[in-house]
Amino acid sequence: PLYDTMFALHAGRDTPFLLLPEGGTITHAAFVARAAQLAHALVGFGVQTGDRVAVQVEKCPDMLALYAACAQMGAIFLPLNTAYTGAELRYFVEDSGAALLVGDPGRDDLPDITRIETLSARGGTLADAADAAPKVFETVARDADDLAAFLYTSGTTGRSKGAMLSQRNLISNAQTLTDLWQFTADDTLLHALPIFHTHGLFVATNVMLIAGGPMVFMPRLDVDQLIDWMPRATALMGVPTFYTRLLDDARLDRERVANMRLFISGSAPLLAETHRAFEARTGHRILERYGMTETNMNTSNPYDGDRRAGTVGLPLPDVELRVCDAAGTELSRGETGTVEVRGPNVFQGYWNMPEKTAEELRQNGFFITGDLGAQDDEGYVTIVGRGKDLIISGGYNIYPKEIETVLDAQPGVLESAVIGVPDADLGEVPLAVLVASGDLDMAALRGAVEGALARFKQPRRYVVVDALPRNTMGKVQKVALRAEYGA
Ligand code: ATP
Ligand code: MG
Repeated sequence: PLYDTMFALHAGRDTPFLLLPEGGTITHAAFVARAAQLAHALVGFGVQTGDRVAVQVEKCPDMLALYAACAQMGAIFLPLNTAYTGAELRYFVEDSGAALLVGDPGRDDLPDITRIETLSARGGTLADAADAAPKVFETVARDADDLAAFLYTSGTTGRSKGAMLSQRNLISNAQTLTDLWQFTADDTLLHALPIFHTHGLFVATNVMLIAGGPMVFMPRLDVDQLIDWMPRATALMGVPTFYTRLLDDARLDRERVANMRLFISGSAPLLAETHRAFEARTGHRILERYGMTETNMNTSNPYDGDRRAGTVGLPLPDVELRVCDAAGTELSRGETGTVEVRGPNVFQGYWNMPEKTAEELRQNGFFITGDLGAQDDEGYVTIVGRGKDLIISGGYNIYPKEIETVLDAQPGVLESAVIGVPDADLGEVPLAVLVASGDLDMAALRGAVEGALARFKQPRRYVVVDALPRNTMGKVQKVALRAEYGA
């Protein structure tokens, strides 16, 4: 089903699929032909139906074609963050029991535990084998419930977990999003996200495969390239950093975005301030949505209706969402609790972690996301942070986001992160890590915080740093902050 829905329909289509900023275009037909060649190469290397194919290579068309090749020959695609070191790779390859690791030549720290083949724009053994193979491959029959991909979570709150995603999981979400965001073959998407993560791989790519239009396939975020291509594109999907970086560039104005119809943000919270600044500059209201590795997307602000800054919008049409207390009892509208979701998008469990799966995936199908949030009377969902980041001080719950919102609004503060640090008396107390945007008057800041927040929520300590630790997806690494300042 996955191959037919996403790829088979493009065979022989002479339309552009990947527009390469470094020059050149790959048509839909050429892409499908390349995937068939890679499918032959995988089979030639002994990969069988249901095997995991781990892939850690820099973003390139062949890496995307490997996803299609796996779908066509029945293997499970397992893309990995290019930042992982050899030691980290060992965990993923061993944990997943991958039959093959496709790595970048030139790395000398790859684990020596499975067969490793190389693939890159510069050529490599897998690419070479593919070059010599036929451009048609007979698709291996698979079922909608068969697994299509293992995607490891970002590891923000602990060790990365391998989320098992079925073909149906991917297809259903891509169809829902394509309809909701009104993507068609007339769209051109600016694609500057990594393709080892659900955002760039399953949200962006799958939507464009269903819609049938091209993507400007950029190796990484490069503001000059985004600005340069924007007049020829219609949509952008990015993490919040994309938008703050674009706003830092004076070339971003109404004329520059004249051809654009949609800007989408996700993977990390978009500050309401960024939302407003972007609208003031471009006239566009960024559409924020919310999802995760285990579920693809769960909520989205509406395409036609009100896109509300600071919210992640409404549950998708085929996703049920509820906010519960720790015992799993549903709370009333407006109350803050743990967000749970159920639908055809929800994954099949964590690979090799039956206890973890049982803890987070309820018998009734609801997945406990670990995010804290609330849903208002109209259905709009606001995420206030992660359960693991909740601070409990003297028995009171403190949501770091509430404090961060106050801090971010102070003059001289660019951004902030609040963490809980151990305290002999209260268990935990809040500590604020600040990034200054200019002159920071600490006395004035403390005064403003005292006026805005109850005493127990006021940070006991402030630390000023040059930048918050973030991963590639723009997520603040609070575990790293706690390790540094928690003692
Ligand atoms: P791990 O599960 O390993 O700790 P992770 O949760 O960061 O890592 P991902 O699956 O990449 O791994 O990220 C999903 C999380 O990202 C969500 O659970 C949520 O906390 C956050 N997120 C995604 N979109 C948004 C958004 N629009 N606003 C706020 N948070 C978001
Ligand atoms: Mg997670």
